[in-house]
Amino acid sequence: MDQPPASSAPQPAIAGDDGAVGQDLGGIKITLVNLIPPATLAAVVLFWGLAPEAVVEYPWTLVFVGVAIMAWIQGLEGVFERHEGWRLNRREFATDVFYVVLSYTAIAWLTSTLADKPLVSIKESLGIATPWLKQLPFLVQAALVLFLIEFGQYWMHRWMHNWHPLWLTHAPHHHITQLNALKGATGNPIELFLISLSVVALFDFDPAAVFCGLSMGGVISGFAHANVRSDPPRFYSFFFTTIRHHSLHHTALSYEDTRCNYGNSLIVIDRVFGTYREGESSIVGQDERKRLSIYEQFMFPFQPLIDGIKAGRGKSAPAPRSP
Ligand SMILES: [Zn+2]
Ligand SMILES: [Zn+2]
Repeated sequence: MDQPPASSAPQPAIAGDDGAVGQDLGGIKITLVNLIPPATLAAVVLFWGLAPEAVVEYPWTLVFVGVAIMAWIQGLEGVFERHEGWRLNRREFATDVFYVVLSYTAIAWLTSTLADKPLVSIKESLGIATPWLKQLPFLVQAALVLFLIEFGQYWMHRWMHNWHPLWLTHAPHHHITQLNALKGATGNPIELFLISLSVVALFDFDPAAVFCGLSMGGVISGFAHANVRSDPPRFYSFFFTTIRHHSLHHTALSYEDTRCNYGNSLIVIDRVFGTYREGESSIVGQDERKRLSIYEQFMFPFQPLIDGIKAGRGKSAPAPRSP
C-alpha cells in the first residue's frame, strides 16, 4: 500500500555502482556468469530468426520457448544463487507455477478476446495496413515489437505507482518477499491483464519477429526477477533491465523508494524519462514485508470496499442487549 513501512522494517542492502555480488566466483567464472543473460537473449533471437516457417506457425512453439526460457533461468538459480534469502521453497514454487499457468490460459484468453482481436477488427475496418514493416531486417522488427510492448508497459506500470485504484491491482506483485525466475507472472489478475495490453496487433510484422520480441521480453524480465548472480555488462544493462534495477524497484525500504526503474525489460526507457535509479536491494516486499496468499492477492483491490461494507454493517447493527 502507499504507507511507508514502520521504521522497524528491515533496511534493504543497497549495493554500490559496481554491484559486488558473486565476488567469490573467480574472475573468469564471474565474467562467464555475467554473460549468461546476453547469451540467452542471443540464442532466442537466433532461434526465431532461423526457425523454419512450419515451426513458427506451430501454435505451441511460443509456449514451448517461453517454458524453456523459464526452466533455464530457474535451473540457473540452483547453480548460481544470488541471495540465500530468496531460495525457492515448495510454497513459493507452487504459487509461481499457478501464476504461470494462469498467464498462459485465462489471462492470455482475456487479452486475445478483449484487446487483440478487437484491435485487429479496428485495424481492418479502418483499412490500416503496414506491409512495409515485413521488409525491415528481422532484428529491427523484433526490436520494434519489444519496444512497442515495453513503451506501453512502462507508462501503465508508472501509472500504477501514481494512481491509487491502479496501485491496488499492482500492490500484490510488490508484496512478494523474494525474487525468482517465475515471479514476473505473480500478481493480481486485473494487473496481469492490464500489463499485457499492447498495440502490436495493429501492425503487420513478420509473425516470427512478433514471437521473437515476446520471447526477448521473457528472457530479460525473467532474469530481472531471478535469484541468479549474473550482473551483465554495460552493453546489456544500459538498455535492458537487470536484477539489480528490478530488485531496487521491489525494495522494502519504503513505497516511495519503489517509484523508479519501471521498465520491465527496457530500462533505457527509465533513463530517457528520468525515472532511472542506480542500486540494488536484497530485501524486497511491501507493508512490513507481508507475504500474501493467492486468495489475498486476488481480493486485494476489493479489500477497501469489503472493509468499508463490514465497517458500515458494524455501525448499523443493533446494539447488543444487556442481559
Ligand atoms: Zn511496480
Ligand atoms: Zn517485478
